[in-house]
Amino acid sequence: MKQLLTITIALLTLINPSPSVAQAVTDQSVNSVLWVQKSAEYRALCYQAYNLAELRVKEYLAKWDKTKPAAVIFDIDETILDNSPSEVLNIIEGQSFSDTGWKAWVGKASATPVAGSLEFCQFVTRNDLQIFYVTNRTNHESTATLMNMQKWSFPFADRNHLYCKSSTSGKEMRRNIIKNQYDVVLLVGDNLADFDQVFEDRTVNFGFHTVDSLRTEFGKKFIVLPNPMYGDWTKPLTGDRKSWLTPPGK
Ligand SMILES: [Mg+2]
Repeated sequence: MKQLLTITIALLTLINPSPSVAQAVTDQSVNSVLWVQKSAEYRALCYQAYNLAELRVKEYLAKWDKTKPAAVIFDIDETILDNSPSEVLNIIEGQSFSDTGWKAWVGKASATPVAGSLEFCQFVTRNDLQIFYVTNRTNHESTATLMNMQKWSFPFADRNHLYCKSSTSGKEMRRNIIKNQYDVVLLVGDNLADFDQVFEDRTVNFGFHTVDSLRTEFGKKFIVLPNPMYGDWTKPLTGDRKSWLTPPGK
């Protein structure tokens, strides 16, 4: 089904579509979804992230004296679960993201694991580390979310290890609850806000300076998964998006 939907989109871009269809297709970022679903490079980057994560856990285990329990914190969407089919539905229907469409997708509990994520979670568990999932899915979506994760046998897919969004989308408070009890070995996510609240503000130079100041943490304590489909990076891109692009020589 996923393949059929993707092929349909590819055809729409090739057969001289009507302006409305073409506009809808363009607006919904077909290329980014195609890259996630059909590029071997995306898949390789996911493996690269999780291979590096495993290396860092092994380094931690070599010196861990077990006096304090340790854990890895994961985001869920586009970190362990692939929601690109939901993006495809939006494209075909000419719709932008909507709460209604998202809830319908989550309710299906049919997202598949991001490449390498399940194996890494199982590796973490085999080595006596706990896993916590800190997500901005809501408590209303928790049952379907856990069902989806349990379908693939993600470890610790239970309510004690799932921190959903309540009053704020910021994750710092939820992370701190975990950090008070566990030594957090790694944080894994597709949005920089999955790692630290300093990344939430992108109003100055798109947040580049913050990333530069913490550059040594990437691939060390912060493991980043690629997500070209959506994210906080789109927030400053209001108005004519082309005006934000940097031409050669600048
Ligand atoms: Mg995410």
